[in-house]
Amino acid sequence: MVQPTQQFMTAAEIADWKPYPLPDPADPTPALLRTRQRMHLAGQWAPWQMLGRRMAVGCVALEITQRCNLDCSYCYLSESSQALKDIPLQEVYRRIDMIYEHYGPTADVQVTGGDPTLRKREELVAIIAYIRKKGMRSSLFTNGIKASRELLQQLCDAGLEDVAFHVDMTQERKGYASEMELNAVREEYIARAKGLPLAVIFNTTAFPGNFHEIPSLVQFFVRHADVVRFASFQIGADTGRGTERERVTINPTTVMQAIREGAGANLNFDAASAGHAQCNGYAYGLIINNKVHDFFNDPEFVRDILASSAHLTVDRAHKTKVWKTVAQYFWRHPGTLWGVVSRLTRLIWRERSDFVAARGRIGKISFFVHNFMDAQQLEKQRCEACSFMVMTPEGPMSMCVHNAKRDEYLLVAAPVRHENTMKFFNPVTGQLDSTMPGKIMPVLSRKNARGRAKQGLADPAAEDADSEQEEMSP
Ligand code: SF4
Repeated sequence: MVQPTQQFMTAAEIADWKPYPLPDPADPTPALLRTRQRMHLAGQWAPWQMLGRRMAVGCVALEITQRCNLDCSYCYLSESSQALKDIPLQEVYRRIDMIYEHYGPTADVQVTGGDPTLRKREELVAIIAYIRKKGMRSSLFTNGIKASRELLQQLCDAGLEDVAFHVDMTQERKGYASEMELNAVREEYIARAKGLPLAVIFNTTAFPGNFHEIPSLVQFFVRHADVVRFASFQIGADTGRGTERERVTINPTTVMQAIREGAGANLNFDAASAGHAQCNGYAYGLIINNKVHDFFNDPEFVRDILASSAHLTVDRAHKTKVWKTVAQYFWRHPGTLWGVVSRLTRLIWRERSDFVAARGRIGKISFFVHNFMDAQQLEKQRCEACSFMVMTPEGPMSMCVHNAKRDEYLLVAAPVRHENTMKFFNPVTGQLDSTMPGKIMPVLSRKNARGRAKQGLADPAAEDADSEQEEMSP
């Protein structure tokens, strides 16, 4: 592990970093402008910057449970997570309200955990419905083990818009020796989601154990682009309870190059950006007959579109509204419409034999590379320009900072109103106490320990005897 240096935040600076407070009701500055100010301060305001221009936040993670039915080798969760009871629904609703108050109706809420499907089903459905009622978008972030077709359908009915399946070799699923073998799991998940009104995302942790398979994995996503809309690669970081820490040569540059290699296209990851340039890279491909073509190959044109469409709100839950918004935009910007049509026409003419073979179908897929920071190597400027917040009990906070001090927000009692009196939810006992409990610290055993904590309690004879994985498929 690299020791902290002057260029990284000190332990005292991390301890002092607080969640953003609720906006002052007397301050009329809209959420978008507050974010723009943050980007200016961090030196990240540019014509290609979407944060503060199109969106007030990239997304906000809403952790509705800390429990998980896997034990990823790069897991960012706390060593105590598995021993904690789910926070009350009332507290979840309060945090959703806070997301709305901070970022408004265009916020994208990542319903996550742990694995959110371990929460009681009726509560998960109610959470999705509440986010929808507030007018915000929700995405379910899951390892997919319990995300049956029936559950996905029920969540769609409640207002779910995206599902993000995390599948990769860091999860150590039994019976799968490579990313290519794991494609059987991915295919099953694709079949479960196919035909539902959901954008399907796949999350992959890039680490030394699977780096060589990224090009083949990209080809798999391209072949399934009729369902898979977004392929996100997150670089494994030295944070949380995970047992692996290594990055070696795995960094945004090498991962983007591996994606280009798999796509067979010189994808441009710099034409548009959401947040700090060191944190995120985003590319967009058009697919004709399984061949990828870079849609961002004219960065100036992309930036013109970004600037002229910054004011638009796209309600992806209602397709007719999306088309109406797009049609109105082109009506007001005929030059942009001409630019899109002429570029598409040139592409189709150039690739005419593939276009005919694909029966005139053009697919699309986005690639995203996210570069989480190691807990002891937090760069202040990147945290200030963060696009990926997590909602703590006190307000939103950069996910990287939160990962570096999770227990500060997990091992605390949540005040909850119960039968007209204030009680305190103890996350270890799951009880409502009348007085604020003292120090909260779970006792870890082989049953509830995960990651490094479990290694410390290792008993080879009982290896995996208590693993929940065995009960689940695939
Ligand atoms: S979570 Fe970390 S890596 Fe991601 S945008 Fe925020 S600061 Fe950057």
